[in-house]
Amino acid sequence: YANPIFAPKRASIKTMGTLLVIRDITQMKKLETMRSDFVSNVTHELNTPLTSIRGFVDTLKNGAIKDEKVAARFLDIIDIETERLSLLIQDILSLSAIENMEDEKNSSDNNIGEIINEVTEILNPKLENKDINIDIRVKKNVTYNCNRNRIKQLIINLMDNAIKYTEKGSVIISCDESEEDIIIEVTDTGIGIEEQHIPRLFERFYRVDKGRSRNMGGTGLGLSIVKHIVGLYKGKIEVESNIGVGTTFTIRLPK
Ligand code: ADP
Repeated sequence: YANPIFAPKRASIKTMGTLLVIRDITQMKKLETMRSDFVSNVTHELNTPLTSIRGFVDTLKNGAIKDEKVAARFLDIIDIETERLSLLIQDILSLSAIENMEDEKNSSDNNIGEIINEVTEILNPKLENKDINIDIRVKKNVTYNCNRNRIKQLIINLMDNAIKYTEKGSVIISCDESEEDIIIEVTDTGIGIEEQHIPRLFERFYRVDKGRSRNMGGTGLGLSIVKHIVGLYKGKIEVESNIGVGTTFTIRLPK
């Protein structure tokens, strides 16, 4: 310390005894492990499409570009992988915004039926090449005080999954209310989920079939986002599923 004013005054510190701080670090440790698992999962999920993009760019540069058909196929793959990266980043940002409770003050009374109609229109292009009929069963004038974008995202994620994991049949979206709750339900006639996977579905990046989810454009974060949104409103989620028959997700949001 060149300036004696900043030098610690050791002589003036008296030892008053020993202070013992006992804290339960199990919860802190658990949070820390979850955080570092999330970071390593994100790194892996971002690296997979990036590695693939770099591989195809290299192959193109090394001569594949001269074959028009091969080049077109490789460019398509690069396009798909870039889209996947972009979806992944969007989902990671959504998750973090929900966790930080951003926008939560931005609530108003929203007509749930209207949101469902909007979502159905947004998802319409995903029905191409599928033999699925969308059945909307909405009780009139059900309103809920919420952040519109959050509830819209919840419905998008559930319906998007229902369409993704169903080849033919129907996707039923319904909205009802009881004295206490608003009830939103999405039922599909798709592949179904084995019972053993159900408790883990809402974990970040958990997928029953990694390959299938990736091919379908899934990020593995959709249901985790749903769980966080339902948590914001202190609601509940139920899942009922039968392999080869279909799946129902029921969301109850307390009024
Ligand atoms: P993904 O982006 O992979 O769809 P989600 O978090 O939305 O991720 O879902 C997690 C996993 O749950 C999916 O990979 C899929 O295996 C399963 N799943 C979700 N919804 C359905 C559904 N309606 N039918 C069958 N399986 C589903």
